[in-house]
Amino acid sequence: MYKVLARKYRPQNFDDFVGQGTIVNTLKRAIEKNKTAYAYIFAGPRGSGKTSMARVFAKALNCEKGPTTNPCNKCEICNEITAGTSLDVIEIDGASNRGIEEIRALRENVNLRPSKARYKIYVIDEVHMLTTEAFNALLKTLEEPPEYVKFIFATTAPEKIPPTIISRCQRFDFKPLTLKEIEKKISEISKKENFKIEKGAISVINEFANGSLRDVLSIVDQLIVFSEGKITIEDVRKLLGIVDEKGIDEILKSIVSKNINQAISSLHKLISEGKDPVLIIEGIIKRLRDILVFKIEDGEKGEIFSYFDKMTTDEILQASSLSIEFKEKLRRETQPILLTEILIFKLVSLIGKETQKEDNLTIFDIVNEEKNKKIDEKEQEKEDKEKKEIDETRDREKTDDIIGNWHIVLKKIKEKSRILEAAIREGKPERFEDGILSISFEENFEFHKKRVDENRKTIEKIISKISGKEVKIETFLKKNSKKSILDDEEVKKIITEFNGQVIERED
Ligand SMILES: [Zn+2]
Repeated sequence: MYKVLARKYRPQNFDDFVGQGTIVNTLKRAIEKNKTAYAYIFAGPRGSGKTSMARVFAKALNCEKGPTTNPCNKCEICNEITAGTSLDVIEIDGASNRGIEEIRALRENVNLRPSKARYKIYVIDEVHMLTTEAFNALLKTLEEPPEYVKFIFATTAPEKIPPTIISRCQRFDFKPLTLKEIEKKISEISKKENFKIEKGAISVINEFANGSLRDVLSIVDQLIVFSEGKITIEDVRKLLGIVDEKGIDEILKSIVSKNINQAISSLHKLISEGKDPVLIIEGIIKRLRDILVFKIEDGEKGEIFSYFDKMTTDEILQASSLSIEFKEKLRRETQPILLTEILIFKLVSLIGKETQKEDNLTIFDIVNEEKNKKIDEKEQEKEDKEKKEIDETRDREKTDDIIGNWHIVLKKIKEKSRILEAAIREGKPERFEDGILSISFEENFEFHKKRVDENRKTIEKIISKISGKEVKIETFLKKNSKKSILDDEEVKKIITEFNGQVIERED
């Protein structure tokens, strides 16, 4: 049976850890000198090895041949800890149930001696999620712990743990792994597992996984299935939907030459390849930054950069801040493609626009002005936001729940009926207002829409259950969605504002 890499290569001994050298050494020394603390906090980002370290430490303390810095991984106790079945090493997930039941059981059982191991070790994962009640119960235990009890609290958010708990613990801060550490580990694993991977590919994966070894390994798992022979950078980009520079440059080139049609069609090409609009805009921002740095440093001109000579520094700055603004918008809105199209319209309008600025403005003046503008806008926004927020919060949260958790809705519907799920999957949840969720279907999916309409009651029941309040649905057919951007009020405004001209779309 295939075992996922993250599980197969989970550290079973102190020397298996990549990175975290200081923590390993301190723990080893404490074991050697028989000076272990009775409570630890393992703080750090996900995938940095906190719970693996907790298990290895538990084995080191409880191994039949221990306490030892090198647990045997063969004795009954070691094996039970590895399998997660030890009665004396109790793992509690603070995130599920927020720990109320578990902490109550802990309070009742903490005074019973370990069943066969040396220590009774409680590992509480995501401990910051515990309720105040659970923390209080925990605190009582921490004040007078029996000598055979140890606590290990793992957390990604140590700042949320009450200081009264923290002060009773020895704290270790786990760091995200460096690229070098990840590369070393992957190269070891690739030799054992017999696969090849391009060196640059690991760096792309790591950027995506933010230094979480677990996430890197799960991506590599998928790549092994996905790639033929050697895993290449291109494979990684395809799998993760990362956009390469070439695609971005095509869009930017069309923007610079003010060819809206071409720019939009380059965008659609990327989207049809499955690229995420957020990642496309991220790519644009990254590229604009490259161009800006290049302009300031006046470096050697590559073909692509000389193309952007037409853009003034001011334009690049404006284009960047606009793109950043849209990236943020995109995270909140439900029409990512339309918004990305609007951004491209705006960027095209921006280029070659007569600027009122003096030629002798330095880049610093421009940056400052941008900053001040931003601050003014922010002040205004803040006020508006505060007013709205109070009465909207609840509704908005629920809205986010339904549309943002659409995959959960689909999953639940699938459990009920696969055919129904196949139909509703072609629809897109557009908005949620006054308890009504609107779902759109493209024109050629009328059949699917009909099926959804026929099963409206069933779907409403499922969604209401998930969102915890009564939800009705309505469905509608989208008229040719590509045309709609030109009818969009914001786009109309931009076009008028800049005396722009809409070029007829070819398709
Ligand atoms: Zn052992």
